[in-house]
Amino acid sequence: MGHGTEPEARRAALAMDRLRVQSWVQPAGLHVLANRRPAAFAWPDRHVYVTTGLLALLDDDELTAALAHELGHLQARDRHLAALRGPTADDIETRADELGCELLTAGGIRPAVLARALAKVRDAPDTPVQCREALTHRIEWLRLRDEIQ
Ligand SMILES: [Zn+2]
Repeated sequence: MGHGTEPEARRAALAMDRLRVQSWVQPAGLHVLANRRPAAFAWPDRHVYVTTGLLALLDDDELTAALAHELGHLQARDRHLAALRGPTADDIETRADELGCELLTAGGIRPAVLARALAKVRDAPDTPVQCREALTHRIEWLRLRDEIQ
């Protein structure tokens, strides 16, 4: 898989910088992959990946929200390692969303932006159908969270 262009890498880095100010969670690296499917991943080695499809789909706030979710994965992993226990599979995305929302709030970005980003990813033509139900579940959880706070 190829890499994104220099402007795409710069844009991703700027979005990450908006969270870096607030967070002790630092990725080891941020990489743009040339792939139409809108997606982001955080590997256990602390490298974060976003696709060119995600960059094309999201505005800057939404991109920051997607990165906040990925940093949430890194942070959740650290906390679980500290507690010497693992999360259940169902908890992983919700936990990363919750920690991502905390990062966004600290960065002055409304957590509702994350739900907006997820809705765009769910509805994108290049998102596999089997991913959509899980995304809807997360969007509903985020909207509920927004209502009760
Ligand atoms: Zn995730």
